[in-house]
Amino acid sequence: MQQHVVIVGGGMVGLSLALMLAKANIQVKLLEAISYPNYEDANLAPYHSSFDARNTALSRRSVQIYQELGLWDVLQQYATPILQVDITEQGSFGKARLIAEKEKVESFGQVIENAWLGRILLTQVRAHQNIELIDGVQVTDLKQDEKFAYIEAKRGDEVLTIEAPLVIAADGRDSFCRKALGIGFSTHEYDQVAIVTTVQTSKPHAHIGFERFSALGPLALLPVPGEYRRSVVWPVKKGTEHEWLGEENDQHFLDALQKTYGDRAGKFEKTGKRFSYPLSQVLAEKQAVGRVVLMGNAAHTIHPVAGQGFNLCLRDAHVLLRFLSEQLAQKQDIGEPTMLKAYEQARLKDQQRVIRFCDLVVRGFSNQNIILKLIRNTGLLAFETIPGFKPLVATYAMGLKA
Ligand SMILES: Cc1cc2nc3c(=O)[nH]c(=O)nc-3n(C[C@H](O)[C@H](O)[C@H](O)COP(=O)(O)OP(=O)(O)OC[C@H]3O[C@@H](n4cnc5c(N)ncnc54)[C@H](O)[C@@H]3O)c2cc1C
Repeated sequence: MQQHVVIVGGGMVGLSLALMLAKANIQVKLLEAISYPNYEDANLAPYHSSFDARNTALSRRSVQIYQELGLWDVLQQYATPILQVDITEQGSFGKARLIAEKEKVESFGQVIENAWLGRILLTQVRAHQNIELIDGVQVTDLKQDEKFAYIEAKRGDEVLTIEAPLVIAADGRDSFCRKALGIGFSTHEYDQVAIVTTVQTSKPHAHIGFERFSALGPLALLPVPGEYRRSVVWPVKKGTEHEWLGEENDQHFLDALQKTYGDRAGKFEKTGKRFSYPLSQVLAEKQAVGRVVLMGNAAHTIHPVAGQGFNLCLRDAHVLLRFLSEQLAQKQDIGEPTMLKAYEQARLKDQQRVIRFCDLVVRGFSNQNIILKLIRNTGLLAFETIPGFKPLVATYAMGLKA
């Protein structure tokens, strides 16, 4: 029986999953549309669409997963721990503070630049003997029958045909594979775009993360390597992004941060180039169909407000690995549809909890309704005063409870 797996999409999720499977001695073929950067050549852009100028806040559970993979020692050199989180709302008295030491944890998570995370994952994938990496190929057809899934992929005029007992589609929010299998999905546009950059402040970050709900949108400021550097993720109203992008708006952007934050981070002194990302929620109606499983953004794309998307994807990948390993240990078919359905069922609770939470935060804090505002204030106070509530939220945010 052939027991190899094809992964379509070598973004951060596809690369991580490939490494998990390869470590479990599963043969992987990884197909990626974009040609990866050549890191040996300093003239080539270091960014790939999946690992670009963004930073990712890895939850403690994600760090554990990379530790199991034997990657954390390398990744850690580029990561900054979050030791405190302050949640506030501009113009209101509510405030919530989480302190790692008080919650008896080393940190709430680690922030790493996507460019570094992607680069390290890619280097490991390139070196792994159980992974065949084929980049610069676009998957253009996907079909399946009882025995196999069949892929057609194109690189220029060259056509590749590949069959496999299991295909994992990690091909992003607009997943071709999802469409090819006729899997329906729901979409919600948030009418927001995220402005993303790195800034320098006069006060050291001291490993404190801020989430500030402002009139313009919920603003996240996270510590990154370099004592005075912080990553900014600021969802603003769609259509207003031109106000913030471009070198000519550097000072305007810094002033807006200063106004929103006051003195909490000191003076906002310098800003890097800003990038914008449209924000939407895209949820596949099914994640396992026959011998194909959707993974990562192809299965669920969510708002980055609480930095949960990638962390959720890693937990999915880790559970799928467990199902596949058990299947192989029993010498069973690795693409067995009922086993894949059982994987999907096993993940629904955690996924729905995270999806609901992120959606609620965005909708709840975007609305200027006075009653909602009152609930938000008392909500933040409750967060501070109800015994047991804070550790519970911290546990969920760290990805330790499914
Ligand atoms: C502004 C912002 C900030 C975020 N911050 C955080 C955070 O702090 N913490 C967190 O947990 N999450 C965060 N997220 C979410 C996180 O970025 C995503 O969950 C993650 O990038 C999903 O990766 P992916 O590999 O599934 O998809 P993608 O990154 O979209 O990768 C899909 C890959 O598939 C390839 N592909 C597409 N079609 C084909 C085809 N036909 N053939 C072959 N290859 C194909 C693409 O080229 C691409 O490489 C953030 C998201 C945003 C927008």
